[in-house]
Amino acid sequence: MAALKITKTLVQSMLEYSKDTYPNEMLLLLRAKRSGGDYVLYQAVFAPFMFSGPHSATYNPYHLPVDLSIVATAHSHPSGVKIPSHEDLLHPYGRYMLIVGFPFRGSEDIAAFDGKGHAVGWELADEED
Ligand SMILES: [Zn+2]
Repeated sequence: MAALKITKTLVQSMLEYSKDTYPNEMLLLLRAKRSGGDYVLYQAVFAPFMFSGPHSATYNPYHLPVDLSIVATAHSHPSGVKIPSHEDLLHPYGRYMLIVGFPFRGSEDIAAFDGKGHAVGWELADEED
């Protein structure tokens, strides 16, 4: 089964952006490259037509770009609860969903899920991977 990896730079960007957006939610689309069957998330793309509020970062899925290199989304949970909400699961986009939980300190505040909301493990990748 394909493993999920996230570059250190992207982890840092997601944490920073979550802090900047706090107490609102942030939402990012994430690009991946394949490496020996694994998915390596390495780049964040701002979601178009995004509306951010204290309880939800939402977007119209029909406005999202058709871009097959985007395989995941990341959004923050200012509540600190690192599990997908009911709404999160209504419009899955991509293969993985990352949730960045308050207080956005480090990798331990980032949880990954598949399109059905099941937790998946992930590991840090070096930029060269
Ligand atoms: Zn959510």
